Amino acid sequence: MTMQYNYEHILVRYGELTTKGKNRRDFIKRLHKNLKYALKDFDKLRYRRQHDRFFIILNGEDEKQIIPILKDIFGIHSFSLAIKVKSDIDEIVKAAYHVVEDDHKNKTFKIFSKRRDKNFPQRSTEIISRVAGEILDKTHFTVDIHNYDVGIIIEIDKEQTYVMGKIHQGKGGYPVGISGKAMLLLSGGIDSPVAGDLIQKRGVYLDTVHFVSPPYTSEQSLDKVLRLAKRLNYNQKNVRIFIVPFTKLQLAIHENLPEPYEITIMRRMMFRIAETLANQNSCTALVTGESLGQVSSQTMDNISVINDVVKMPVFRPLISFDKEEIIRHSRIIDTYKISIEPYDDACTIFNPQNPVTKPKLSLCEHYESYFDFQSLVDECVENVEIKVLRYDDEDENEDLF
Ligand code: ATP
Ligand code: MG
Repeated sequence: MTMQYNYEHILVRYGELTTKGKNRRDFIKRLHKNLKYALKDFDKLRYRRQHDRFFIILNGEDEKQIIPILKDIFGIHSFSLAIKVKSDIDEIVKAAYHVVEDDHKNKTFKIFSKRRDKNFPQRSTEIISRVAGEILDKTHFTVDIHNYDVGIIIEIDKEQTYVMGKIHQGKGGYPVGISGKAMLLLSGGIDSPVAGDLIQKRGVYLDTVHFVSPPYTSEQSLDKVLRLAKRLNYNQKNVRIFIVPFTKLQLAIHENLPEPYEITIMRRMMFRIAETLANQNSCTALVTGESLGQVSSQTMDNISVINDVVKMPVFRPLISFDKEEIIRHSRIIDTYKISIEPYDDACTIFNPQNPVTKPKLSLCEHYESYFDFQSLVDECVENVEIKVLRYDDEDENEDLF
């Protein structure tokens, strides 16, 4: 008869944090805050810190619902579920067997035994051989002390013993918020949500900005972007999106400027507006989904003249990514299916035949003098609409203000 074991707690190990010296405390504090926020719906959970790791005490909550959430939180290196048993060798053997009995994926194991209670009757070598014997007898597992798939950790205290098995990999990175705040230019495409996720990984809190050109861009296209923005919410309290009405400025570009320069200049306008909004909202950098050479507006010369209109750093986490790598990542963060829905965003409504790939900065500046772009830029900033989004908001179109 198999005995019923309940997981008692989850041991969480920090990511790169441990190497960060004096900032460590802030990092740990932020990770706890983000984690407690992500798990706020599980009332019974309790938390306990211990040196370089901490425990989530399950207190009856279902670990199956907690595991996927932990896998989404930046700053967690790995975590393991623990079973609590009486400090008794037979109990320990049974619990250790339970840790691997349902595991059909892994093949090799190693046992680590920590005898905190020095009066425990069996020595570590004996504990290890008893547990290993049971697993070797009853499962397909073999021992490999160098390249093991599952490390079974046994921690023996006077009152109780914790037995831990499989290590779940976390997302790594830094807890969101410890590196400041940036403004992500978020389109409805595949690339920019991935760029947002990668920069969040380094601890950056995101605001997002999206340019719409109604009636050339549709309500569905905006709705799609709102759903993409929500996907960036797991590590922050909410995600704000600044929706910029871009039609008038885009039409002015279309009417006044030579066609090959339209896209380059449109992007210079986007950057100007994004930087202004970033400054107004304490963001210290812009983030885009640009990847070198992917489209004509992402040649080195285009990136250079577009970048020229802003002072703040522009982070382009995808600059060296192939499209295939970006798609792979977008599947992991669950944005791919949304991104490929077929609605045009502001970038694709005017498609010049021969967009310039080697623009001249002096020519951009010259063409921009053909019309009063600054007042149109100001108008965009003034008329921006802000929405606050959370991934568990049910009504996609609900106005949260
Ligand atoms: P994406 O897949 O992210 O749309 P893309 O390959 O289609 O990128 P572009 O359309 O040239 O490339 O856009 C490059 C970057 O400019 C995007 O990754 C995004 O950061 C930003 N961007 C483009 N269109 C918009 C928009 N309508 N609103 C906000 N940002 C945008
Ligand atoms: Mg795009």
